[in-house]
Amino acid sequence: MVNAFSFVCTACGKCCNSPPAMALPELFRHRDRIIGCIAIGRVPRRRVGERLRVGRHETVLDAADIAAFDSIADTLLYRTGDIFSIMTQGYDYPSLARCPALADDGRCAIHLNGKPVTCEVVPLDPLVPDTLQHLVLAGRNQSAAYLGTDCIQEGERADAVLMTAEGEIKDANARDALARRRRALEREREVWGRAVFESLRKDLFDSPGALARIPAGGFLTISIVPALLAVASTSAGCRQSCLDYIDSQLALIDRSIEQALFRRRLDDRPVTHELRGFTQAYQRAKALLGTPLPAMEVESGARPSLSPIEAYLSGAGR
Ligand code: SF4
Ligand code: SF4
Repeated sequence: MVNAFSFVCTACGKCCNSPPAMALPELFRHRDRIIGCIAIGRVPRRRVGERLRVGRHETVLDAADIAAFDSIADTLLYRTGDIFSIMTQGYDYPSLARCPALADDGRCAIHLNGKPVTCEVVPLDPLVPDTLQHLVLAGRNQSAAYLGTDCIQEGERADAVLMTAEGEIKDANARDALARRRRALEREREVWGRAVFESLRKDLFDSPGALARIPAGGFLTISIVPALLAVASTSAGCRQSCLDYIDSQLALIDRSIEQALFRRRLDDRPVTHELRGFTQAYQRAKALLGTPLPAMEVESGARPSLSPIEAYLSGAGR
């Protein structure tokens, strides 16, 4: 079988070395455990004839591959001259080298209680066409996060699930998780992503100097407040949900900074500085949301039902 990779997760926790990407409803659900932020990254623009090589695996991209990349960019990403991802995710001190949901026994503390879909997608990548996911697996197999584990193996194995082969994702659970993560990203784009993209266009996406702040192969992290303001403007219920979320996050950030000060690590300082910036942004947002916004009027007398975005934030509208 060509490009066959098998996968079995023993839940060793080794790849849980940082907070995952999480949709807004997932961050709302885990508001007391995980600090939310917006992560902005560049996504390479692919061309027909381009060679993608990982170890001994190589693909020369054809028109169908480019059409698949374009479809992902058009539905999940953001285009200016370049292509960008704008996603919410967890944020924590890199010096801790762990996801805040990783328990001391190496297990995921939220495995049965709202584990992020991103973690179910592991080790695949929702931003790569299904036909090329074997390259993702080949790359992860060489990456530090998976070093020393044998969860990804080339070929078909009796003790593992066949994940990819012949340019397809063979495992039905993996296909389902990828579809759910892509649907979530599409919904995030509708609910707040496009509004945030437009609000940042002038100062970030149209400014080469500002774009230089996005590290190569990494992400620029900013406060999650622009996403909250986008959803808060849609209804009184959404505004209240955002205010509740902000209060939880302010308390969590305080606890997180307090622990960092206790650790007294030099490399924690820039992160503490950024977290203090998040706190200031939350305080400004609270002041703004404390006053009624025009779009929030609720008909008197009628008990308002959940708006589609309130339902989405509560996890009921996915
Ligand atoms: S490193 Fe592999 S085995 Fe360990 S938790 Fe991650 S996917 Fe599972
Ligand atoms: S949420 Fe759970 S599975 Fe996902 S990175 Fe954190 S500890 Fe790992």
